Amino acid sequence: MKLYLMNVSANWNEYAESYISDKIPWLEEDLKQNCEKCLRPNHFRRNGPLTISWFEGCSTIGDLLSPGALDKLVVVDKVKRAFDAAKLKGYKAWPVQIKEQKPKKNPKFPIVPSPYDGPRLWDIYGEDIAHLITEKSSVDSRGPCPSCGIERIDALDDDDCHFVIDRESWDGGDFIRPYEIGGMFVTERVIDVIRENGFTNVEYKLEGCISD
Ligand SMILES: [Zn+2]
Repeated sequence: MKLYLMNVSANWNEYAESYISDKIPWLEEDLKQNCEKCLRPNHFRRNGPLTISWFEGCSTIGDLLSPGALDKLVVVDKVKRAFDAAKLKGYKAWPVQIKEQKPKKNPKFPIVPSPYDGPRLWDIYGEDIAHLITEKSSVDSRGPCPSCGIERIDALDDDDCHFVIDRESWDGGDFIRPYEIGGMFVTERVIDVIRENGFTNVEYKLEGCISD
C-alpha cells in the first residue's frame, strides 16, 4: 500500500486560508504525557472538532483545507460524501466549528463572509496512529530525551524522503499519523478518490508505503 503526504491549501492565493481559533479538545490523558523538554508524543488524540476562523486574502472555499498544521484536515461536504462512499477507513468526521469574526469596515482583501454560509465543513480526524520502521525511513535520531526517555526521532527535510509504516502497528486506516514524527500520511485509496473527483486545493506526493 502506497502512502502519500498531502499539501493541502497548496493554492493559498486562490482559496481561503483558515486557522485554528480556539482551544483544541485534546484528550486529557494524552496531555498529561506531554514531555515539556521534547514536546513528545507527536500526536495527541482528541475527542472533538477544531474551531476555525478565516484569514483575509481570499473568500473562495477550496474542497480541502488544512488549518494550522499538516496533520489537520478539513473538507467540504462533497469530499466527505466521496470518502464515505469509497468506504475509506480510520477517521472520524466532526462538523467543524466556526468562530465568527467581526467584519472589518474597509477590508483590504476579500474574506469569507461572516456569518459563514458556505458549504458544510468536516474535520477529518485520522485515528490510526502507527509506527514507522525507522531503519527503513528518512529519519534522524537524536537519542533518548534526558527527561522522559522517549527516542527523539525527526523526519529528514529531503526531496526524496521515504517512510515505511510497520504493518503490524497499522489498524488498516487510510489516514495514518506516524507515532515517531509529525504529519499525516494518507493511503493511495484517499488519493484515488481525490484524483477521480478532481477536488481542489490539494497537492500530494508519494512518500512511502506500508511494510509487506
Ligand atoms: Zn521528553
